[in-house]
Amino acid sequence: MVSENRPFRVIVVGGGVSGLAASHAFQKAGIHHVVLERRATVAPAEGASIAMYPHGARILHQLGCLSTIKQHSSTPDRWRARLPSGKLIANNGVFRVLEANHGSGLLLIERRQFLQDLYDTLPDKTFIKTSCIIEDIKQDEDGVEVLLSDGSIERGDLILGCDGVHSFVRRTLWEHANKTLLGSITVKEKLTIRADWKCLVVTTGPIAELGDRDLTVVHNKNYSHMYTMTPTLGYFFVFFHLDEPWTFPKRTQYTNQDTQDIADQISNHAMSETVVFGEVWKHRIRAAVVNLEEGVLNHWYHGRIVLAGDSVHKLIPGLPWQVTPNMAFGGNSGLESIVTLTNLLRQTLIDRSWARPSAKELEKVLATYQSERLDRMNDIEKFSGEITKMQAWHRPWDKLISTWLVPMLPARFFGDQLGNIIRAAPKLDFIDASDFPSGRMQWKDTDGKSKETKYSAVGLHAFLGVNQVGLLSATAAFFMVFYSLSDIVFTWAAKGLRG
Ligand SMILES: Cc1cc2nc3c(=O)[nH]c(=O)nc-3n(C[C@H](O)[C@H](O)[C@H](O)COP(=O)(O)OP(=O)(O)OC[C@H]3O[C@@H](n4cnc5c(N)ncnc54)[C@H](O)[C@@H]3O)c2cc1C
Repeated sequence: MVSENRPFRVIVVGGGVSGLAASHAFQKAGIHHVVLERRATVAPAEGASIAMYPHGARILHQLGCLSTIKQHSSTPDRWRARLPSGKLIANNGVFRVLEANHGSGLLLIERRQFLQDLYDTLPDKTFIKTSCIIEDIKQDEDGVEVLLSDGSIERGDLILGCDGVHSFVRRTLWEHANKTLLGSITVKEKLTIRADWKCLVVTTGPIAELGDRDLTVVHNKNYSHMYTMTPTLGYFFVFFHLDEPWTFPKRTQYTNQDTQDIADQISNHAMSETVVFGEVWKHRIRAAVVNLEEGVLNHWYHGRIVLAGDSVHKLIPGLPWQVTPNMAFGGNSGLESIVTLTNLLRQTLIDRSWARPSAKELEKVLATYQSERLDRMNDIEKFSGEITKMQAWHRPWDKLISTWLVPMLPARFFGDQLGNIIRAAPKLDFIDASDFPSGRMQWKDTDGKSKETKYSAVGLHAFLGVNQVGLLSATAAFFMVFYSLSDIVFTWAAKGLRG
């Protein structure tokens, strides 16, 4: 299929967050590649914001993109939570804890701008090809071929599927795997990625009454609002529980009319003491409804095909301490996967004096990649999943915990739990990162001896986990009593304990 006397080459499918990061990392590592993006542009005016945690920022720093991205980012200041009436129940400084813990806070940037910055900072842009429609993917012992709709063929040694949640590469991988070893990809695995939530995503101009720095969550039953204001733009996410979960191979496309209808339904929802959603809607620049798929697959590779990003680990957006479906870790996790794969490929090529590895050797690399990433992604998903179950007030104790317990926990509690995930993230092992700021919590890869924080022994996962029946019952009972003590006690407690 391919000639022997050429360098190892990766064909990356998809030029989104993971695909563009792959080009950066491969260029730094000296790995030949091409990125095939279906759309005409890598930075379409879609979506709202993307938040980068310190571990994502550290990778972006290594890739040489961080200073450009920072110029277009803002850092949220306070985290606020409100009841459906708009009444404030929590107001803490968790983002400051994040900065103190890791030397770098949460970076919030418009998604379109983030993709543009990733593209603009590429040392060599000729690796990226847009408007590529893939017709077929072939692989054999010697290499891979990707057939494009214009009749051209891209040849290489490995296909990296960064083509998002509805991945064509993943479907091809499944077909190839099941042909080679009947039954290796089961229906159960195919249905792993599912959506229980949909999200109305709205980008607005500034809205003075909602401030210009804070992230706010407004709780309600089976849906909730999250919004972050910046000096120039506002990003609003409204999460709704779906009546029927979405699973592969269905694909839901919401129309502009659907978007308008949903916005109309919630127009009288309070966003603060003084603003309702209908007023926010008037400031919209763009809006859309998307399903929020979530799941981590077991098979990340087959033969010479490997996956990264949403095609294999999809995490829904939000923040772990808010009362909505959760965690803004999807894009950050895509960066992590690219880092791990690049480190392993580069080391293999160095060990072979840059000669192309055999199919068997490549398989070893991909197996290591899968096992390293799977453990971490399962942990993150579990952490997120436990909180998601607690949230949106599905069960009586969810409401108790989210309106009583969560607001009273100090900001440091959340920052430290999150910090234990952040500090364990991988980085490129061949680029110095010592000039990236550090904080109270050491990066795991720089200090194997660093002590865990005092909260980590409990762990948010364990602390809030619904499996911890005893703890939960005790918590519920505790807060039942608290509830009966009326609003006066609550208001006093919430005010007194704001971080
Ligand atoms: C509402 C919302 C908010 C989010 N907020 C955050 C956040 O704050 N922080 C965070 O870390 N994550 C966030 N995420 C998750 C994050 O956006 C994703 O995890 C991330 O975009 C995944 O990157 P990716 O490159 O794997 O996929 P994508 O970004 O989806 O990119 C896939 C690319 O592949 C292209 N493509 C698809 N099919 C083909 C094909 N057949 N051939 C060629 N190209 C193809 C697409 O055009 C696209 O450019 C959010 C997600 C949503 C829905």
